[in-house]
Amino acid sequence: MNSSSKRKNDDDSGSSTGPKKSFRGHWSQGLLQSMSDPALLVEKDEKIVIIKDKYPKAKYHFLVLPQECIPDLKSLNSSHLKLLKYMHKKGENLAAQYPSSEFRFGYHAIPSMSQIHLHVISQDFNSPCLKTKKHWNSFTTSYFIDSDMLIQQLKEEGNVKSLSEANGKQLLSEPLKCP
Ligand code: AMP
Repeated sequence: MNSSSKRKNDDDSGSSTGPKKSFRGHWSQGLLQSMSDPALLVEKDEKIVIIKDKYPKAKYHFLVLPQECIPDLKSLNSSHLKLLKYMHKKGENLAAQYPSSEFRFGYHAIPSMSQIHLHVISQDFNSPCLKTKKHWNSFTTSYFIDSDMLIQQLKEEGNVKSLSEANGKQLLSEPLKCP
């Protein structure tokens, strides 16, 4: 078994016990299922779906996903720029509904879940689901790539540079810092 098949959902919602699931039922595909879960749905149109994060790490935590299948950041190319800007705009519009909260919009450098997803997250980090150093660091270190920066990089370089597993692990295990 490799490390990714052993790994549980970062929220420990996946189960490593019980009968083996098919890849389609693997926890890393969970967002694809949640995109059509009415309990999580916030908004959708022909290009995107916005859902509530099932394990929110702040008072307000949403995910903006494209309808088009884009499994990961390395699948992005300059033809996706318009879509990424649209996702960002939709995220900003949603955040504007909560004027008393400050938000950030961005991507995890090494996402755990398949299908790209823009995190729209309020900066209070007030949530019982924020339990671990890894959770904290994933939103407060450079592991969190601001959407603006990702779009800029894609525009300039035609792709998104991926972080090595080792660098990712290092960022997630850094001592806790007040952002
Ligand atoms: P990441 O892949 O690291 O960018 O983060 C995945 C995000 O998806 C986390 O914030 C999780 O809380 C969230 N999440 C995990 N499983 C689900 C699910 N089935 N439905 C909705 N959100 C989920």
